[in-house]
Amino acid sequence: MSIWQELEHKYFMNTVERVPVTLVRGQGARVWDEDGREYLDFVGGWGVNSLGHCAPVVAEAVVEQVHTLIQTSNQFYTIPQIRLAELLLQNSCLDKVFFCNSGAEANEGAAKLARRYGERYLGGAYEIITAAGSFHGRTLAMVAATGQPKFQQLYIPLPSGFVNVEYNNIEAIKTATTGQTCAVMLEPVQGEGGVNLPDESYLMAVRAWCYQKGILLILDEIQTGLGRIGTLFGYEQYGIEPDIMTLAKGLASGVPIGAILAKDRASVFVPGEHGSTFGGNPLACATGYATLKFVIDNDIAGNANRVGQYLIDGLKNLRDKFQFITDVRGRGLLVAVEFSQDIAQSVLMACLARGLLVNRLKPNALRFMPPLIIGEGEVDEALAILDKTLSNI
Ligand SMILES: *Cc1c(COP(=O)(O)O)cnc(C)c1O
Repeated sequence: MSIWQELEHKYFMNTVERVPVTLVRGQGARVWDEDGREYLDFVGGWGVNSLGHCAPVVAEAVVEQVHTLIQTSNQFYTIPQIRLAELLLQNSCLDKVFFCNSGAEANEGAAKLARRYGERYLGGAYEIITAAGSFHGRTLAMVAATGQPKFQQLYIPLPSGFVNVEYNNIEAIKTATTGQTCAVMLEPVQGEGGVNLPDESYLMAVRAWCYQKGILLILDEIQTGLGRIGTLFGYEQYGIEPDIMTLAKGLASGVPIGAILAKDRASVFVPGEHGSTFGGNPLACATGYATLKFVIDNDIAGNANRVGQYLIDGLKNLRDKFQFITDVRGRGLLVAVEFSQDIAQSVLMACLARGLLVNRLKPNALRFMPPLIIGEGEVDEALAILDKTLSNI
């Protein structure tokens, strides 16, 4: 254990079992540790570093903005947040935006917005239906929204007003809908819960049901948005439009930011009903603008789609070779492999020793979320390391 790692153990609350590497530098899809060892990064800051580490276009935007204006109060107009708002709304199906600092904060705000909508149009309805296996963040309310007992049992009693139902089951949503329901909240593809893909007609059926009942459809695109699954936003692939959408992770290349986007008719906040000190600050928004502009102008989503398919095909070849790979699934560059036994941690450590960073999704599954700018060459490299690792497991 290095001196830094010893200090970490001394000073930090014990919330995370870290991978025993201290990263000090990153460039593109590579990172380096304190001993100068190089790694190919297929974790990508948890799906954040879409343009790779320290992309020049991002670094330039940050440097320019820190010399210009970093933070003001939201009582004032600032230009970077208006430019980012316009770019986001011109390239999505939504009409209005609110900026905040993280995914959980974006989802909290979306839930509050849905409750205001319920108050205004649905006779005070406040309940939000979410799916088992979902992940919506770590605040108390979002733990209640997150349909996973392992996160919920620790914090009982949870805030009320969230109903978790079976994923990929439209009947379960219909049964759970009552006069108190104001919204359904889903991830287009469940990320943290297992890279779970929606059935062919599920999201369309949910969309139709929400229209029929006059309730809102909230899509949590914090992980799927900004090109991750092969289109700028995940909803584009499923023939639907949400009433509210949340974004965070990839939006500003690692400078903390979150966003709530809404259709005009769902945008019911009035002054004083919601706010954020740092939300939409010029630094985050200038970085977000540079990131999103690059993603759009260079069809980064198209690259994620193409290279993601190449990765999935390569992993399927490995599945044919190693019988203990039981599943390969994903969209774009949000991909998982599942094993018949709980070997994810040992595979992760063996990959690490060979210079590849991967994420343990479950005891028996790994997740890959590399930067969206990678090419086939990097995928070949990762597959070769995985192949060697799995041959020795
Ligand atoms: C990561 C994530 C969140 C939480 O975002 P934070 O920035 O960690 O608060 C919420 N929803 C989804 C789908 C996520 O992937």
